Amino acid sequence: MSGTDLKSPEQLSVNWHQRALDLRPDGRALIDGRRVDAVSGDTFACHSPVDGRLLTQVARGQAADIDAAVRSARAAFEDGRWSKQPPAARKRALQRFAGLILAAQEELALLETLDMGKPIQYSLAVDVPAAARCIAWYGEAIDKLYDEVAPTPATALALITREPMGVVGAIVPWNYPMIMAAWKLGPALAAGNSVVLKPSEKSPLTALRLAELALQAGIPEGVFNVVPGYGHEAGEALALHMDVDAIGFTGSTRVGRRMLGYAGESNLKRVFNELGGKSAFVVFDDHEDLDQAARAVAGAMFFNQGESCNAPSRLLVQDSIADAVIDAVVGQTPRYQPGDPLAPQTTMGALVDEGQLQTVLRYIEAGRSEGANCLIGGARAREASGGYYVEPTVFDGVRNDMTIAREEIFGPVLSVIRFKDEAEAIALANDSSYGLQASVWSSHIDRAHRVARALKAGTVHVNQYDEDDITVPFGGVKQSGNGRDKSLHAFDKYTELKTTWIRLSV
Ligand code: NAD
Repeated sequence: MSGTDLKSPEQLSVNWHQRALDLRPDGRALIDGRRVDAVSGDTFACHSPVDGRLLTQVARGQAADIDAAVRSARAAFEDGRWSKQPPAARKRALQRFAGLILAAQEELALLETLDMGKPIQYSLAVDVPAAARCIAWYGEAIDKLYDEVAPTPATALALITREPMGVVGAIVPWNYPMIMAAWKLGPALAAGNSVVLKPSEKSPLTALRLAELALQAGIPEGVFNVVPGYGHEAGEALALHMDVDAIGFTGSTRVGRRMLGYAGESNLKRVFNELGGKSAFVVFDDHEDLDQAARAVAGAMFFNQGESCNAPSRLLVQDSIADAVIDAVVGQTPRYQPGDPLAPQTTMGALVDEGQLQTVLRYIEAGRSEGANCLIGGARAREASGGYYVEPTVFDGVRNDMTIAREEIFGPVLSVIRFKDEAEAIALANDSSYGLQASVWSSHIDRAHRVARALKAGTVHVNQYDEDDITVPFGGVKQSGNGRDKSLHAFDKYTELKTTWIRLSV
């Protein structure tokens, strides 16, 4: 996810406040091609973190709703209405789906901003186009993938084919609701699976709308179902379901552990975990442009209010340049002051809810009480709005064993740790239970390569942090998970390899 290529505020002429008042989001589940209430009739309230106001009531899906969705998905898979369509036909439907997402760009962007608090300019210019591109890319890919013939003796032919798994459960978080859903839906649907998506209870609205657009695009009923609800109810029921073949999970490491447990307790379904991070951004004194490094770390850290799994939340900086780099980073913070998410020029919005606000404030307090030095920020902002905002915050004097260096905060809080040499930098960067992403800044190609190789992370950036594309895999090592979203590699998660031996007369 990147903050580049954003539409400028001048290009946004919509009156978002008026549009927000006119919006009537539908919080019912979408199962078997229809909008339905939860079987129990229960709902939960969906409030906006922008100002705390009620957006709508959302169906509180539980085991019975998940079961109905899985049955529908299974029936669709077995009768082949999607799974047996020629790849070129699935491609056309997915491309129509992507086109409809783009056509609904303003509505989806507004829903995303109201539901989870990010600035409208980013919902519009990052989240919606990225979700559409992901769906279109997997659609485009699916009729270009070939299976294999093994190099066996002439007495037999062995075909190695990729087959869809069946019913895929997708469980996603709230920080990039549409993009996370698209990263699961794109490859899973293109490969011919049926999907039951459980969005986060904190941001369910765009997922529900996406399912309507998929139907409109001609993706048959039952192929893509969405059941909103709480993790311990709908999420658990989906992960424990005996007729779900795979779970694509994105979320916290804490819940990722549970996913593995649920699979063990039920049908040993495949589990692919995309989890948290505490990414290191390592700046050496031989980098030729320290201001560029400072801009990059601030931009990536404060984008999406710091609620990014790959946020570079540990800035490791060499002693000799530390003061200069820290000054430059602090100098960037006025660019990221929290503002009204519906105002086109706002660059940092609201945290997702009161709970997340309190979590972030607790971490800030832990940083102070453990002896780190809060250089800037560190407080709630815009309280009178009724929403949940925190100032961009920078701590100096952090040791890698402090809570704010070890735990994922998921808010706009940067911890600066100083190091003396390359060996110490590598040791500090790798001394984390996470391994999602890392970055090394050095103008010496030998050092840049050496350190990039030594860093234990799913993705390492050299002298930048922003590059991102649907063509490259995204995922982590260690407790950041095991799956890979994006790129052709994502098909590995949603297909089974099948071997077929055919005897030949010679
Ligand atoms: P979370 O783990 O609390 O929730 C994620 C999803 O799991 C939600 O839909 C939730 O309802 C569901 N869930 C919660 N408890 C469950 C249970 N017991 N059984 C089944 N489902 C359950 O995470 P979150 O707070 O929504 O999201 C933030 C986390 O997501 C962060 O740790 C962040 O790093 C991670 N994340 C990772 C990536 C990645 O690609 N690696 C991307 C985005 C976010």
